[in-house]
Amino acid sequence: MDKKKQIVMSGIRPTGFLHLGNYFGAVRNYVRLQQEYSCFFMVADLHSLTTHPDTALLKQQVFRVLAENLACGIDPEQAVLYCQSHVPETAELYLLLNMLAYVGELEKTVTFKDKVRQHPDNVNAGLLTYPVLQTADIILHRAALVPVGKDQEQHLEMARNFVKRFNHRYGDVFPEPQAFNFGEELLKVPSLDGTGKMSKSENQYATLYLADNDELIQKKIMRAKTDSGPTSPGAPKPDYIVNLFQLMKLVSTPETVAQFEAAYDSCGIRYGDMKTQLAADMIRFIGPIREKAHSIQQDSDYLQKVMRNGAQKARESASQTLQLVKEAMGLTYY
Ligand code: ADP
Repeated sequence: MDKKKQIVMSGIRPTGFLHLGNYFGAVRNYVRLQQEYSCFFMVADLHSLTTHPDTALLKQQVFRVLAENLACGIDPEQAVLYCQSHVPETAELYLLLNMLAYVGELEKTVTFKDKVRQHPDNVNAGLLTYPVLQTADIILHRAALVPVGKDQEQHLEMARNFVKRFNHRYGDVFPEPQAFNFGEELLKVPSLDGTGKMSKSENQYATLYLADNDELIQKKIMRAKTDSGPTSPGAPKPDYIVNLFQLMKLVSTPETVAQFEAAYDSCGIRYGDMKTQLAADMIRFIGPIREKAHSIQQDSDYLQKVMRNGAQKARESASQTLQLVKEAMGLTYY
């Protein structure tokens, strides 16, 4: 732990199955980060409650998302992996921060306005104060760095505002959390239908899930859009072909990629062969993760142990923060 100085905090939403985009866009980076930083990875189960899910299903999703993240290489000995609802200090900090959050600024949040439009019948206070809970999550362990995607930048900006407000009023307790920048490595995994990126809200056939079986992976890849190939050397690749090459770069050897690049350049490429190769390499990549996630998910004793240990470590760290907060605020009467 000694050389791990900076604290990294990231939330994991327990919604849906992890897909290849989540793996290369997020989880793989977490696996690297956990070696160099003091990392806290939190499964955000309380956040999900804003949409009133069936909590029996939520429990299954929490178990699955934990199993999938562990199978991808999150190491519960290196990083603190925990469930939000197991750390009540989160709720305590959330309450204190709510006193510093103005209704007007919360109402202006883009994600809140979107939700109001999508679900006008369920505009609950939890939805309005979502950025406050998210701030409590982020600063609970006094994290300096938060690996976030573009869509989360407004929330991080709000977290910084709440932190500044707190520090200004009560004294410096929290560092201002900064977006962790992976630079070049923040890649987008394209979807298989040639448009946009893989996402759980997209066409299910265009996204490869880490839980997909071999046949399904094969089927999805063979269905990917292609054409009859380039007709002149040096012809630019259409988007859907660029995407296939991008996917190949993720899971195939550099030699294999080079072989198909050369075939493209000489107009001799056979997309059927390319997709067969990509499917084989993808199966080789996803298969072991799927099997591992499956066996972890069956082992509820192990999963519960991971959650319990994670919660204990997270609570130790969170209670230190809360102690500092209370001292700064003068909420220490004995
Ligand atoms: P989804 O888009 O499927 O709803 P989330 O919004 O839950 O996924 O994203 C979880 C993490 O995975 C985020 O860090 C996000 O940036 C990353 N991510 C999601 N899809 C992709 C993708 N196609 N390529 C790269 N990263 C992605």
